[in-house]
Amino acid sequence: MALTGIQIFKLLPKTNCGKCGIPTCLAFAMNLAAGKAELAACPFVSEESKAQLAEASAPPIRRVTIGSGVNAFKIGGETVMFRHEKRFENPTGIAVLVTDSMPHQEVAARIDRFNKNVYVRVGLKLHADALAIKSVSGNPAKFGALVETVIKATDSGLILMSENPEVLTAGLKICAARKPLIYAATKANAEAVAKLAKDNSCPVAVKGANLEEVAELTGILNKAGIQDIVIDSGARTVKQAFQDEIIIRGLALQKKFKPLGYPTIAFPCEMTDNPLKEALIASMFVAKYAGIIVLSDLKGEVLFPLLVERLNIFTDPQRPLATTPGIYEINNPNENSPVLITTNFSLTYFIVSGEIETSKVPSYLLIMDTEGLSVLTAWAAGKFGADLMAAFVNKSGIGNKVKNHKLIIPGYSASESGGLEEDLKGWEILVGPREGSHIPAYLRTLKL
Ligand code: SF4
Repeated sequence: MALTGIQIFKLLPKTNCGKCGIPTCLAFAMNLAAGKAELAACPFVSEESKAQLAEASAPPIRRVTIGSGVNAFKIGGETVMFRHEKRFENPTGIAVLVTDSMPHQEVAARIDRFNKNVYVRVGLKLHADALAIKSVSGNPAKFGALVETVIKATDSGLILMSENPEVLTAGLKICAARKPLIYAATKANAEAVAKLAKDNSCPVAVKGANLEEVAELTGILNKAGIQDIVIDSGARTVKQAFQDEIIIRGLALQKKFKPLGYPTIAFPCEMTDNPLKEALIASMFVAKYAGIIVLSDLKGEVLFPLLVERLNIFTDPQRPLATTPGIYEINNPNENSPVLITTNFSLTYFIVSGEIETSKVPSYLLIMDTEGLSVLTAWAAGKFGADLMAAFVNKSGIGNKVKNHKLIIPGYSASESGGLEEDLKGWEILVGPREGSHIPAYLRTLKL
């Protein structure tokens, strides 16, 4: 059973040193009990207390890793029902289905789209995470051949799908080192699949006819010494699968019901034949609350919106994506190039730098630390005012790189231009456009 805040407090050093970022040990203990703090934040907990506190600090939904090496991905580890309560921890893994009954060209085309549909947004690489390899034939040799084809074509995460332990064994012989998710242990095969998972140290999914059966199955796996479990409630109607996701998350978090304290896998690919409907269903499961979704294909028009949705939902709402402050050189600038300044909110940086690049005008871009806030928000919070901008420009050393000493500030900061001219001696302040899309035209017509 999870420990209460007072029980946790008794195991802390009680020095109220504040090194954990919280003023007192009691407040830290309360936050830890509520899942709002990490035990690792206190550097002074004894090893003995750590062992006792492990249960209290473990997330109510277990964190499970699928795959090995750089392409391994984590799912679960969730501690809240709603993102605004803290944050969602590990993004929903996106998998695409290939089966041993598909023509070779179709398998190759799906793997090709898996490998090629990679997008860069706000400096992050967005892509799908796994191939779900399904045995339809029930033939171990055929399944093994498909697994072989897949692992030669990609080093991604893998899900091996069959309810026949012999078929799973054939797949594992080829790819066990890649630590695939074994799908699935059922009432009929639980012991044999549990043995496979244990022998190969792989995570395993359970599939039940309903949540009661799922809870029984996780119990059987636990008894076999397996903890890295993923849950399939077995539902294949949208309504039932959605309800199951909510019930699993609610019982695990609010009732601390351990048998359902695992990430889930959902199959939009088995809920409709309509690709657009499938995308909508998948989008619902990204928000609530699938650990993995398996799609029938990864065409760009479906994958890209899902990846962006996932990025938005799994970004920590308390910590904006920020870019490293400093001087950025774009299009090989020289001493006669213009100097622009903006904030270190990642989206702002990527939009502004992208527009400067498009203009083909050699320029310097100064990125100032505003704790990841955008121009208007930073200005309203007093983090992008004339005095701070002046101090940053002087400290940056940009004055030694250019002769003209003209600084272009964002259009939304126009009200700071007068103050900046006073604070930044020797610089002329120019007010740039408000919208990033107007930057190329502005730079091309600029007379320095
Ligand atoms: S760092 Fe540890 S000892 Fe210090 S206040 Fe936080 S919980 Fe207490």
